[in-house]
Amino acid sequence: MEKLQNYINGELVPPHSNEYFENIEPAIGKPYSLIPDSDESDVLEATKAAKAAFPIWSKMSVDQRSEILLRIAELIGENLDELAAAESRDNGKPLKLAKTVDIPRAQANFHFYGTGILHFASESHSMGNLAINYTLRQPIGVAGCISPWNLPLYLFSWKIAPALASGNTVVAKPSEITPYTSYLLSKICIEAGLPKGVLNIVHGLGPKAGAAIIEHPDIPMISFTGGTATGEWIARTAAPKFKKLSLELGGKNPNLIFADCDFDEMMKTTLRSSFSNQGQICLCGSRIMIERSIYDRFKTEFVERVKALKVGDPSNPDTNLGAVVSKPHMEKVLSYVELAKEEGGTVLCGGNRAIIGGKFSDGYFLEPTVIEGLSYDCRTNQEEIFGPVVTIMPFDTEEEALAIANSTKYGLASTIWTSDLKRAHRVARDLHTGIAWINCWLLRDLRTPFGGVKESGVGREGGFEAFQFFTEPKNVCIRY
Ligand code: NAD
Repeated sequence: MEKLQNYINGELVPPHSNEYFENIEPAIGKPYSLIPDSDESDVLEATKAAKAAFPIWSKMSVDQRSEILLRIAELIGENLDELAAAESRDNGKPLKLAKTVDIPRAQANFHFYGTGILHFASESHSMGNLAINYTLRQPIGVAGCISPWNLPLYLFSWKIAPALASGNTVVAKPSEITPYTSYLLSKICIEAGLPKGVLNIVHGLGPKAGAAIIEHPDIPMISFTGGTATGEWIARTAAPKFKKLSLELGGKNPNLIFADCDFDEMMKTTLRSSFSNQGQICLCGSRIMIERSIYDRFKTEFVERVKALKVGDPSNPDTNLGAVVSKPHMEKVLSYVELAKEEGGTVLCGGNRAIIGGKFSDGYFLEPTVIEGLSYDCRTNQEEIFGPVVTIMPFDTEEEALAIANSTKYGLASTIWTSDLKRAHRVARDLHTGIAWINCWLLRDLRTPFGGVKESGVGREGGFEAFQFFTEPKNVCIRY
């Protein structure tokens, strides 16, 4: 079986331990490659390389850094087919999705930050005849970047690109569940001529290789995307070391549907916001609230359309849902369906493992699932499931919808469907989420601040926010 390698100091290398673990293909349920089981010693070596590369990389002109990042973007585009096929195989997602969303977005991330850095500027504050202050925005050193499995290269590059563009060097760890495209990225970085040590990719388990990154004294900033429980541990571990932290964590996103919305547009988009990537997007709307006067109409049409979604072979262009990412994850999602039933919910459609047959007999496929009849405060409606499962609930007033929407510990994203302009603004203002989409979903402008409130995270990524995170401001005051 193919052995993936770490990318340290410009070279592809095996882990020090020479130990590997299996990389499972979710649609087949069998291993197809081996992942380095890296430990602290690999992270030490990667950090040493990143530290050594920092003085040169950080002092390079922004044009030079930009040029290399744009070359990486270009190579991602040239290798779109290979990268998309690898992402689909590694994650279980439909190939079409990988080809139209994941990989183009990874390319866009390098392009966006590679050009964005050319426009990033700092402030000055005049004190009249007395003095002038200016703010230096300096790269900090070695950035630790850790990403999850749901949008593997998309989220990995979302961190790495701004960290590198700002002049930092990086030690990064992709999810051990979906490491393949970051391995391909290391080959692309070599081809693009990224100087050695500037980016180092260490594969391995979270509590081992990941924890070593968090704990390393020479990594002063951490950008992490993943689960809230992991984020909590990272915050606890990094705080006494005074590390800079950006945490993008879980969600339980509300979808508020008012009777005056454009019903057809809402229906089409709600199918996507519920089940894209098998519901494994942190921004998916998992709690759907519908104004009572259109509840029955919504329910009938939604369930009918969900039943028509095709689950199966990720490489088939007609497939809507591929496999979920792993067996434990599939079991977790199914356990929430059982919990929902115990809590009094009615499964309107789905609720089971989907049996595909043939070479996919052991694959981790789930039927898209719609549940009704649950109270807003039960566990099913409060905890993140992160799979193709949504609940639907009627509401009577705007106040009630807002109260239900804001009732969870999470606050990542929300979606509002209404034709009433005043209500749209009012509800967006009053929702406790970092992002509010009105009459759309996952419409992303990379310049906008991205992140959550409450237990969905700390800090913002995206646009200049990311450059601000990855640089340290220094005020310089000169007396005339
Ligand atoms: P996870 O927290 O289990 O793992 C995320 C990453 O952290 C992996 O690379 C993992 O190896 C690493 N990790 C695990 N334990 C670690 C430790 N002790 N120290 C350092 N690193 C460690 O999350 P996951 O299951 O991969 O991803 C799913 C979660 O990610 C969901 O909760 C989802 O909502 C969230 N997510 C959030 C966003 C966002 O932007 N807010 C985006 C995507 C996913």
